[in-house]
Amino acid sequence: MRQITLGKTEITVPQNAFGALPIQRISKDDAVRLLRKAYDGGMRFFDTARAYSDSEEKVGAAFNGMRDKVFISSKTMALTKEKFWEDLHTSLDLLKTDYIDIYQLHCVARCYGEGDELYEAMKEAKKQGKIRHIGITAHKIGVAEDIVRSDLYETLQFPFSYLASDRDIQLVKDCAEANMGFIAMKGLSGGLLTNSEACMAFMNDYDVLPIWGVQRESELDEWLSFFEKDIRMTDEIRDFIENDRKELLGEFCRGCGYCMPCTVDITINQCARMSQMIRRAPSQNWLTDHWVNEMMKIEDCVDCGLCKTRCPYELDIPNLLRKNLVDYKEILAGKET
Ligand code: SF4
Ligand code: SF4
Repeated sequence: MRQITLGKTEITVPQNAFGALPIQRISKDDAVRLLRKAYDGGMRFFDTARAYSDSEEKVGAAFNGMRDKVFISSKTMALTKEKFWEDLHTSLDLLKTDYIDIYQLHCVARCYGEGDELYEAMKEAKKQGKIRHIGITAHKIGVAEDIVRSDLYETLQFPFSYLASDRDIQLVKDCAEANMGFIAMKGLSGGLLTNSEACMAFMNDYDVLPIWGVQRESELDEWLSFFEKDIRMTDEIRDFIENDRKELLGEFCRGCGYCMPCTVDITINQCARMSQMIRRAPSQNWLTDHWVNEMMKIEDCVDCGLCKTRCPYELDIPNLLRKNLVDYKEILAGKET
């Protein structure tokens, strides 16, 4: 397994890390078991966030008494220094620790710099030893580019998968040049990519640390198996990726859910990518009464535009939803998927 050093932090870990967002959906006992299994299997880096409900508490319970054996990153969505400190102290309590290895400003709308209260609070927290390193996460490429140019952060977390654009790949290279660690989120592009070996081989070609979102033991087993077999890019995997890219690139929804809630309660993060999901998973799962009802809600869209202002990929969501609905109705009427 390749080792990755996260830039100036000098944190060096196997290139196979744990994203702790999905464990909020399972019981505390199951989450603790999963996290400990990940550690026993070789994972050393665990990423959580204040915004992931009880994820920090579960991570804290899993690694209580062995804090020095793992690296933990967390995040705050605070917009004021008061909220920043409140969040940081809550994170420390829940994680049962007196320091967080990397604390990140979460999904920022712009790059905060010297003089901004949030950045100043980060510096103070580092000075006090409550955080070891200052990180940031972004979803918009322009914001991420500003962050790299600012040279103020030790790590950047950004979506990165084999569907990456040339601009995304340049961002990774710029990060390496600036000695800024790159933490790759959404390596499966929100569940759209299903070939874990291809996803892993792609990461292996770059200086990035992928954090795989894990909820089920079977998913974890798949990622842990890569500690045994060394996955490298091959001609066969490259051809597979090329074909998948042709099929998926363009205007597609990554399922992140940042656009929600919808004014009329459409489940945008699934309905706006139904055409892809229905062709990549057993289609019957998406043809239940539940999903038919959910898809039909698209007809209620009032074009308020709220969702568009929140989508980090700047998708034209109402139109995308309508296109998916047309396709879905044709499938219901018998069109082959
Ligand atoms: S534009 Fe349509 S899909 Fe978007 S929030 Fe408004 S009602 Fe919902
Ligand atoms: S439409 Fe945009 S914000 Fe909403 S789930 Fe898809 S990618 Fe995310």
